[in-house]
Amino acid sequence: MAIRNILQLGDDTLRKKCFEVTDFDDRLHTLLDDMRETLVKADGVGLAGPQVGVLRRVFIADAEEEGYYEFINPVIVSAKGSQTGTEGCLSVRSKWGTVTRPNKVTVKAFDRYGKPFTVVAKGKFARIICHEYDHLEGRLFVDIADSLEDR
Ligand code: ZN
Repeated sequence: MAIRNILQLGDDTLRKKCFEVTDFDDRLHTLLDDMRETLVKADGVGLAGPQVGVLRRVFIADAEEEGYYEFINPVIVSAKGSQTGTEGCLSVRSKWGTVTRPNKVTVKAFDRYGKPFTVVAKGKFARIICHEYDHLEGRLFVDIADSLEDR
């Protein structure tokens, strides 16, 4: 495993739409293992492919109570309610933002072996998923924040 460099705001890669994963192979597993190690080192709660320069529809989320998840080719199939709270990003180290997100989302995705699964996420876990999903579309929280402050 290896720590990967986390791209920062201003890098064009963060603004690109990601491609679907087609091969659930060793290369994908290495990417996911590296992303997890990178996330732990950075003390974050989520990390998406483009943040480490890989334009594939992949993100990981570590939401304390719910545990650690890997999402490949995720689709948010329903979003309900709303929550407003503070958000940050490992690719935007200079700002915190106040961001409104759905309070509950249902996500369909694949695991690293290509097996489909569905997760219903609420609260903080739903926030992380929405934030990471946006990365796959080239969107950052600073685009949709109600307000921003220096951190
Ligand atoms: Zn982020």
